[in-house]
Amino acid sequence: MPKINVLDDNLINKIAAGEVVERPASVVKELVENSIDASADEIIVEVKDGGKSLIRVTDNGEGMEREDAKLCVERHATSKIKNVGDLFFIGSLGFRGEALSSISSVSDFSLITKTHKDMEGSIVKVENGEVKVNDIGCSNGTIVEVKDLFGNIPARKKFMKPIQTEFGYMMDVVMRYALINKGVFFKLVHNDKIVFSSQKTTSLFDNIVSIYGKDIAKNLVKVFYKSNYVRVYGHISKPALTRNDRQQQNFYINNRPIKSKVVSNAVYDAYHTLLHIDRHPVAVLNIKLNPDSVDVNVHPSKRIVKVFDEERLYKEIFDAVRDSLYSNELIPDARLDDRGYNTVRKYPLQTDKQSVLAVKDEAVKKKVAERAAVGAAGEAKERIGPFLLLGQVSKTYILAENNKGLLIVDQHAAQERINYERFMNEYKKKAVRSQSLVKPRVVNFNAAEAEVLKGNLEFLNRIGFVVESYGASSFILRATPSVFGDVNAGLLFDMVHELSGIGSVIDAEKEKKIIRFACRKSIKAGEEMTVPLMEKLIEELDKTEQPFTCPHGRPTAISISLPELERKFKRVV
Ligand code: ADP
Ligand code: MG
Repeated sequence: MPKINVLDDNLINKIAAGEVVERPASVVKELVENSIDASADEIIVEVKDGGKSLIRVTDNGEGMEREDAKLCVERHATSKIKNVGDLFFIGSLGFRGEALSSISSVSDFSLITKTHKDMEGSIVKVENGEVKVNDIGCSNGTIVEVKDLFGNIPARKKFMKPIQTEFGYMMDVVMRYALINKGVFFKLVHNDKIVFSSQKTTSLFDNIVSIYGKDIAKNLVKVFYKSNYVRVYGHISKPALTRNDRQQQNFYINNRPIKSKVVSNAVYDAYHTLLHIDRHPVAVLNIKLNPDSVDVNVHPSKRIVKVFDEERLYKEIFDAVRDSLYSNELIPDARLDDRGYNTVRKYPLQTDKQSVLAVKDEAVKKKVAERAAVGAAGEAKERIGPFLLLGQVSKTYILAENNKGLLIVDQHAAQERINYERFMNEYKKKAVRSQSLVKPRVVNFNAAEAEVLKGNLEFLNRIGFVVESYGASSFILRATPSVFGDVNAGLLFDMVHELSGIGSVIDAEKEKKIIRFACRKSIKAGEEMTVPLMEKLIEELDKTEQPFTCPHGRPTAISISLPELERKFKRVV
């Protein structure tokens, strides 16, 4: 007996729906995309029970005429492409003509729509694969209502997550579209409560402010990069603003939210040591490519796209982010908590910007003036600029005043940054200088440590430790890297432990990690410093390429601006 059946359309649709409609959030995604493609500037998403019982998307877009309304729920029915050639010039979010047919096959579905040309709207319903259309009075635009999702596929229904989880996914979808569509008003309503809304704005930045709020927005820097291959623009966070997950990372290719290893690797690599381990920058980055440089038709939900020249994309995004981080001041704000304080009296500051930490002494005044003059004539890279040293707190923090306000430098983190850059400079030139110990030291290790050390002798020599084997598990330490100053054999122990955790094969990344580690370990804590030494430290810090973070990503300096101080002391009128 023959075994093969040709499946009917209804069943084919249900199978196809499995790819497009994974969960309630995928319905929201498809409907919102359709509204954006229809040039709506108001999109309202209302859901009940995490979308399980109701999803309604209302837009004020172009709407559909009667004939189109009838066709739109058919499989492979789309107004967005006509032929194969179009597949490589896609400017719209949709083009597969599958969403409405899929969604309507797995739910209780209705669509109401009207164009501005028509007097009467159309209401479309799909029952058991049959499309019914009737007249209805309605506003211009489209309303799609999806009830009882997966009601006819119990197996799918069972796999939906709890309401809050499903709603979380939806919220994520709506936010991503809202962030990039600056001119569109979005509203998300869950169980009759408004959970989220965005404003119609004219700039991406204003839009981010309206969605993420001012606190986040003020810690963002702008990215604007253009070549004949790509345009990269948007906003990324300063190292002071990071998250412990990637939730607030929004990458788009031609306005389409995407997930891409190439893009995120380029961004993370550009931040490099500015980020702490396991911390993630906030980003809203739009990557504009020629439509023929990218294939969006490789994944049913189109969240993953294929860029043909990934290497180039990586390089240019890396440059874009790097340029923006370097050209912006990366000094973090000291965010003092001002809740719980009441304004007692207002002391307006004189408008000629008197120094908060009044400079009384004539000699000191002169010095500030001199430094300012040097600073003005100095190199453009200088970012701390002329400063006046104020003192040291807890043998750890150096206080200084510069033209922005109060500067607090973590002397250890600063020293680490200085040492790291100096060291890397020598290392790259293969010219690491060593400093001989006054008396070579015999150091004893246990058998396992000795193994690690033997396996890494060559590497340790390259980074300036002159060590020789001296018996089974003893070694002679003759010299250490000069950059580290006077260090004792303890540093060699620490290095061996770090190396044992890292495995025997050392690649460039690991080398850097170990060098960062060594720089860190070579810093002595709690050192009382003389005034000239502190001044020298800040001056040297200012000359580094990345003065404001240590190689491990912690801040080396924070500044409290004058306006900030004025606000904290309630001097603001
Ligand atoms: P696709 O978006 O891939 O074309 P869909 O199944 O999502 O496929 O939609 C089918 C067609 O229905 C679209 O091409 C569009 O012409 C029309 N359509 C869908 N939603 C809307 C809407 N909100 N406003 C106007 N037209 C719409
Ligand atoms: Mg669509």
